[in-house]
Amino acid sequence: MDQHKSKVIQLIETVKKNHPNFSNQQEELLWKAYYFAKKNHAGQKRLSGDDYLVHPLAAAQILADMHFDATTIIAGLIHDVPEDTEATIADIKDNFGKEIATIIEGVTKLSKVKYRGIERYAENLRKMFVTMARDIRSIVIKFSDRIHNLQTLQYQPPQKALRIAKESMEIYAPIANRLGIGEIKNQLEDLAFPYVYPQEHAWVKSLIKDILKQKERVVSRAKKKISKELQKNNIEYISITSRVKHLYSLYLKLMMHNKSLDRVYDLIAMRIIVKDVKDCYVVLGILHTIWTPLKGRIKDYIAQPKPNNYQSLHTTIFAERGEIIEVQIRTQEMHDYAEFGIAAHWQYSEKRSGTLPAKHKEWIKNLVAWQSEISDSEKYLENLQKVKLDFFKRRIFVFTPKGDVIDLPEDATPIDFAYHIHTDIGNRCVGAQINNIISSLETPLKNGDVVDIMTNKSRTWPNPDWLKIIKTTIARDKIKASLNKKRGLKSFNLKNPFAK
Ligand code: MN
Repeated sequence: MDQHKSKVIQLIETVKKNHPNFSNQQEELLWKAYYFAKKNHAGQKRLSGDDYLVHPLAAAQILADMHFDATTIIAGLIHDVPEDTEATIADIKDNFGKEIATIIEGVTKLSKVKYRGIERYAENLRKMFVTMARDIRSIVIKFSDRIHNLQTLQYQPPQKALRIAKESMEIYAPIANRLGIGEIKNQLEDLAFPYVYPQEHAWVKSLIKDILKQKERVVSRAKKKISKELQKNNIEYISITSRVKHLYSLYLKLMMHNKSLDRVYDLIAMRIIVKDVKDCYVVLGILHTIWTPLKGRIKDYIAQPKPNNYQSLHTTIFAERGEIIEVQIRTQEMHDYAEFGIAAHWQYSEKRSGTLPAKHKEWIKNLVAWQSEISDSEKYLENLQKVKLDFFKRRIFVFTPKGDVIDLPEDATPIDFAYHIHTDIGNRCVGAQINNIISSLETPLKNGDVVDIMTNKSRTWPNPDWLKIIKTTIARDKIKASLNKKRGLKSFNLKNPFAK
């Protein structure tokens, strides 16, 4: 008897639910992939003692739950065949075609990338981007593979478990975040958290244990009230739900706020999904007439999306008895992008009869740009420590006086900000106003700061001392280039007696 067959049936049900145009042909191919994996992994076991087949089936189900398309899921089912069995990529190509073979070739390459500490970061990332640029679905399968391996990490020897967990947290999660796949980023982090930081994990869990129940009651009362108010105002909504903040991101936030829960307003956040953008703003208005919003906490990521394209309205309100709740308001499409990133791109492009939406193209363009930023491996390795900070430190969003968003690493200075706007603004900056207060150029910027750079037109060259203050590679490269230019001009003047 085939005990795994029910898993395939469940898998197909999930695909059909998310992709109504899933064809009989694709269903046949999926069954073929299952039997292909079954035959090739026959006799192999996981460390847990389970049949190996359990692993590709679980990975494929994770992909299906995240709305990925049939091709990705079929490739997920056979992702370990070329690495762990006699069958080759050529066999896969013969049986499943070129597209699936290319995706799996990418997965196999990615599994050769191993985390060996900070020194190998650049190399790892570069390999990943080269593979991803070929077909993004390879990394997506790698994510699902990694999620299932993290779920079964207790069977690994402790040393190896720690390496896998660190690699997931430090390499895979930031990439998932950059790709806008919040759901994968959060799962990777939360699964790795207890292995990488066991004490901190236990502390956060115990910290929220009691408060969570109390918050849940407040939120469920607020939900009822909102639902009633929206009906009263004839606003149709798709859903009102709530989510508990993921443990690892809660941990990071607690570290930012002196380990105190008092300033974590989104421990439980409410999500209102409405049918169009206009309704997002209408709902925001209604909320603010029922409850007082907390000053400075209204964020319009619809007008100003985050760099990974996240869109939503956020506000924090004083609900009954002064309880503070964060509310996020968005359309279904924005929600799907936030949760599923690239998978949502596929889903929405399917609906629009095969043409890629502009957002998807934009996204691919960003990815390519990001890849070329680190394509010069030697330079990259040379600046490793700084680059690591740029890519993996928490990002902050700082505003120009006109409201443009500049995305910077935490602790960046007004000088970094100035160079991110324009080289000339950087070179000519003499001071800064942060939130209308004159501040030194060394002041570390904070999320949400409005920064106005003061420049002096007669000043042309940067101050070499700035190199010790700045936190971004962009600023450093621009300062160095300008200083080199200045040096070049001087020596030119010396050599050329005709120059003034
Ligand atoms: Mn695998």
